[in-house]
Amino acid sequence: MGEDPPADGRYVRRSMTVPNDLSSLCGGCHAAMNEPHRPGCAKARCPYCGGQRYDCHEPPGCEVFGGVIDDKPSMWWGRWPQDIAAERYGVDKREIFDLIEVGLFVWDPDTQLFKPAD
Ligand SMILES: [Zn+2]
Ligand SMILES: [Zn+2]
Repeated sequence: MGEDPPADGRYVRRSMTVPNDLSSLCGGCHAAMNEPHRPGCAKARCPYCGGQRYDCHEPPGCEVFGGVIDDKPSMWWGRWPQDIAAERYGVDKREIFDLIEVGLFVWDPDTQLFKPAD
């Protein structure tokens, strides 16, 4: 008797699941909701471009922002920023990835969330 897949269609590895009351913690560094990721967290996003922080926080830095090394914390909002955008703007959670990919949703460095493109 297998378990049903999660609603988003992706199977979650058993070792990655966390109890419900901890589900708002970052799966990478266990940062609490609305707190910054801890240094080295693989789930942290670059505050400037929204890409993987990994790729931007070592020299040569964030290429989108002309080589700046992030000097502000990468925030964890308790859920994936794309999920927050999907809910806020009434978009299907699977479609939001495509909308980001084609540039209809863009990263907002001020809020560290995705927003509709102008
Ligand atoms: Zn984290
Ligand atoms: Zn970046």
